[in-house]
Amino acid sequence: MDTEDYTKKCRSLSLISGGLDSQLAVCVLRDAGAEVEGVTFETPFFKADAARKAAAALGVKLHVVDFTDDEIALIKNPPHGFGGAMNPCIDCHATMIRRAGELMTSLGYDFVATGEVLNQRPMSQNRQSLGVVARTSGLEGRLVRPLCAQLLEPTIPEQEGKLDRAKLLGLSGRRREPQFDLAKKYGLTDYPSPAGGCKLTEKGFGHKLRDLLEHEGLDERRLVELLLVARRFRLPDGTSVILGRDANENRLLAARRTPSDTLVAPVSVPGPTALLPRVVSESDLDAAMRLVCAWSRFDCFSGDITVKIVADATTTERTIPRPYDRAPFLPFQIT
Ligand code: SF4
Repeated sequence: MDTEDYTKKCRSLSLISGGLDSQLAVCVLRDAGAEVEGVTFETPFFKADAARKAAAALGVKLHVVDFTDDEIALIKNPPHGFGGAMNPCIDCHATMIRRAGELMTSLGYDFVATGEVLNQRPMSQNRQSLGVVARTSGLEGRLVRPLCAQLLEPTIPEQEGKLDRAKLLGLSGRRREPQFDLAKKYGLTDYPSPAGGCKLTEKGFGHKLRDLLEHEGLDERRLVELLLVARRFRLPDGTSVILGRDANENRLLAARRTPSDTLVAPVSVPGPTALLPRVVSESDLDAAMRLVCAWSRFDCFSGDITVKIVADATTTERTIPRPYDRAPFLPFQIT
């Protein structure tokens, strides 16, 4: 078929993470005759900043979809389990593609595209996995992988002559040199490392997320967002202590307090603010006050520390006598 036939443009909705492969997919699709718009997903666990930057550099309109409810549902119940931390990658990826497919249908695009490369990841990007994702997302025939399309069955836009299969690529494997060569060809210089930026892949973050899931649950978005800041402790009776690490975090914790939370902060010395979403026992509240003192700047002052306790609509003060020791609390810190 002559290349001229591809002047009847088709419209692609391309998943853009901001990484090199998703940027290359946009460039290749344009070469193959498609108009490209982008879609990316955002949650408290990963931001769309890199995608926004890449889309702006590529001159692509970007749809940013809040994916938080989907991600939390998957964390609570990941049909294919977790990766090395609390990252439900297989189901997360498939759900993103399904959501992109819904957007494709509602906004009238011809197909969804991704920057996947056959066999780049042994488990999730082998031929069988790519086929499973296409089928389970309901996008079979309308899911194009421009970087490895020549190694896969032709999709509907290729069969219809809207997308020039000859200009799609046949990349396979883990070697990155072909992508780096293509980056030079297309003048792409700004791209984050692959798979970076998702907190769910970090083991330490996974411990905090697991702790929240098992105690307060993940339904309160404010508490999920607060996982990204502050130190966290789980006291013996089950009270969670979210302890600010600097003045900004102290202000943030005070601002995010709801009437059912308790706030503890030193008033006679500089030190951290602690947010307690739910006080389980008087002994935990007492421990939280001592914990706040132990992380305060008590060395600079000779007297005992007075802390304020904000609970319900009332503020009270208590003086906590020395010594202030961090060691007893370290076993309760979640790291
Ligand atoms: S790394 Fe994070 S955003 Fe990417 S698929 Fe896994 S869970 Fe989803």
